Amino acid sequence: MKFISTRDKNRVVSFKEAVFQGLSPEGGLFVPDSVPDLSQLFAGMTAETPFNEAASALTAAILKDELSPDRAAKICERAFFFKPELVDTGNGIFIEELFHGPSSAFKDFGACFLAASMEEFLQAENRRAIILTATSGDTGSAVAQAFFNKKNIDVVILYPSGRVSPLQEKQLTTLGKNVTAVEVKGNFDDCQRMVKETFVSQDMKYLPLTSANSINLGRLFPQSFYYMYGFNQLKAKYKNIIFCVPSGNFGNLTAGVYAWKWGLPVKEFIAATNLNNEVPLYLESGKYEPHPSFRTYSNAMDVGDPSNFERLKNIFNNDYKEMGRWIKGAWVSNEDTLQAIKDFYAEKKKFIDPHTAVGYVASSRYMAANKPEDTAIITLSTAHPGKFLEVVEQATGARPALPPNLEKLLKLEKKSVVIDNNSATLKEFLKKNY
Ligand SMILES: *Cc1c(COP(=O)(O)O)cnc(C)c1O
Repeated sequence: MKFISTRDKNRVVSFKEAVFQGLSPEGGLFVPDSVPDLSQLFAGMTAETPFNEAASALTAAILKDELSPDRAAKICERAFFFKPELVDTGNGIFIEELFHGPSSAFKDFGACFLAASMEEFLQAENRRAIILTATSGDTGSAVAQAFFNKKNIDVVILYPSGRVSPLQEKQLTTLGKNVTAVEVKGNFDDCQRMVKETFVSQDMKYLPLTSANSINLGRLFPQSFYYMYGFNQLKAKYKNIIFCVPSGNFGNLTAGVYAWKWGLPVKEFIAATNLNNEVPLYLESGKYEPHPSFRTYSNAMDVGDPSNFERLKNIFNNDYKEMGRWIKGAWVSNEDTLQAIKDFYAEKKKFIDPHTAVGYVASSRYMAANKPEDTAIITLSTAHPGKFLEVVEQATGARPALPPNLEKLLKLEKKSVVIDNNSATLKEFLKKNY
């Protein structure tokens, strides 16, 4: 399989090229150029197929022009030392916990696969790369953890001084080795501008700079693995399987839609959002109205113009009715999110985070409205409840424990490089150190 840009179908790249380029030069996103039929491969898997084995098989099938089965297996083995856990919550609603990785959120699946595949490609060619990225807190920590200790790769992460939470700062600044945290005396926009200016700067072309942001195909593709895995767990027990996906930039949902295109017989998808509901509204009316984002309790989904909407439109040839046949939109208010965390805790003695709560509300509403027979809804659980302590405590009156791997970090010492908020200082730092 090759990959093409959503904005220029003549821009054809390999997976490796897509991974190191990130974005296509004219601003489009990379998407598969063809639709393989992998229904036989999916049908051959069972509830007992280990996550890693399923992931390797799908990787080898999709990237067979570029990666031998052995190399695909090696990448997946290195990337996934954690796996999803499926929890039955009753009434046909299951929660697939995707937060057992190093940063306790589902973005670990994408970040760890990207890191492992970059490492594999770089080692094979005896090349180096420097990941340069800016973060407002959360996504950067998944990247930092994923690339930690990877060979042939250095990581430089910019974050705004004093504007990330203490826990997020620990995640960025305590790793060391090949990961350098650059603390910028400014805000997140400064950090982003500095990174952008450095990337286009002629005098930095000698450095092998690359990005690892969320639109990278190497982060999107591996998110299809846990749809296949969740499906495998339930296919012998239920006739219909639906996925409900708490969504912000819609990368998570898009990966599931690819798995379905390739032959995973998912009945339909529920796209669950908070008040940032531009995609659910589009699915109803065909009108897409992006807007500045609203702040909600599920803040990783506060997106007013999702970047992967472009990929979704590409999959469905801009036909909102066709998209709407397979993807049902739902949006959930702040009050209902809080109430769901509270009720879930009261009924099941288990915490859920605000993003998972949005999905859970959407799944419950779907069940109540449609009463489907022989149907399971798998709700993707995107973060550990301990990462959103304040909201969960506000809802339940009880305080969930921090995820163990984050708890450990609190005792470690912070190490950062403090710089002014202009790209000249960043470039100076890079020239001196790399
Ligand atoms: C990023 C994120 C989401 C949204 O995922 P998208 O792929 O952007 O739709 C949901 N929940 C959590 C916890 C996240 O970090």
